[in-house]
Amino acid sequence: MANCLFCSIVAGDIASTPVLSTELAYAFEDINPAAPVHVLVVPREHITDAAALLPDHGEALSAVLQAAQQAAVMKGIAHSGYRLVFNVGEDSGNSVPHLHLHVLGGRSMAWPPG
Ligand code: AMP
Ligand code: ZN
Repeated sequence: MANCLFCSIVAGDIASTPVLSTELAYAFEDINPAAPVHVLVVPREHITDAAALLPDHGEALSAVLQAAQQAAVMKGIAHSGYRLVFNVGEDSGNSVPHLHLHVLGGRSMAWPPG
């Protein structure tokens, strides 16, 4: 999709730090990490957000979740645990309108904090 930041990253037109690449998904380092490990996983196909998911997107969504599992193993947080987040809409702070799964870990992610 034109003028989409994460479509441009998937296409390689904008640089990113790759974590892993699969047929349907791409995982890369978040440029402004909120935790010691902060990976973003996106479907290669443009899907706006989790609220725009359709039954036809099942394969892409599964690929995103499987890439997140694999990224957690590669980043060494599979056993310590991690948080998976899809932000949707203004109140969530969603800033990039291309579906992305945050993989956050490397410290206690207990909720609420404290
Ligand atoms: P969200 O707030 O859920 O829309 O998340 C967007 C995420 O994308 C934020 O955590 C940003 O730090 C991250 N981000 C924005 N631009 C880039 C970029 N060029 N490369 C990597 N991560 C980015
Ligand atoms: Zn896109």
